[in-house]
Amino acid sequence: MTIHCEIVSQDRIVFQGDVDIVVLPGTDGEMGILPNHTPLLTTLNFGLIRVRQKGQEEVFTVAGGVAEVQPTIVTVLADAAENVAEIDVKRAEAARERAVKAMEEKSRDEQDSYLAIEAALRRSNLRLDAARRYRRSAQRPSRLGETDKGD
Ligand code: ATP
Repeated sequence: MTIHCEIVSQDRIVFQGDVDIVVLPGTDGEMGILPNHTPLLTTLNFGLIRVRQKGQEEVFTVAGGVAEVQPTIVTVLADAAENVAEIDVKRAEAARERAVKAMEEKSRDEQDSYLAIEAALRRSNLRLDAARRYRRSAQRPSRLGETDKGD
């Protein structure tokens, strides 16, 4: 038995498929969603979404969003999301450098732009960490059940 999973970001469908389990970074903690799960709506932290399909695991970064769970479908509406395999490390490094530089130049008093810079820094750090940790292992059989450290 499988559950359909759709991960949609603001600009594209990042993933869709029938999977065995989806692990989400819910704001109340990591959640493993199996077929026939009780319906629920949750907001998502910055973190990793992991899906297992026929024993093969795929890992996605997600920069916040919401997830709706129904017994036969999980829908993730992400602020931004990408498969770790498609993360452009150079782009994330450049984004990180820009954010660090902007943070040094901005005063904390300029609240709105400071928060935007902080969010850009968190997105780039998330992408760089995920690429470093999961890029080579992304094609290996499941790592579900292992504990994430340092998110
Ligand atoms: P940048 O300043 O490089 O655009 P950003 O954090 O502002 O980074 P977002 O607004 O979060 O980018 O994302 C815009 C789109 O680009 C999304 O579809 C996101 O998945 C994609 N994206 C952003 N950074 C990367 C990256 N390093 N590798 C692959 N895709 C990325």
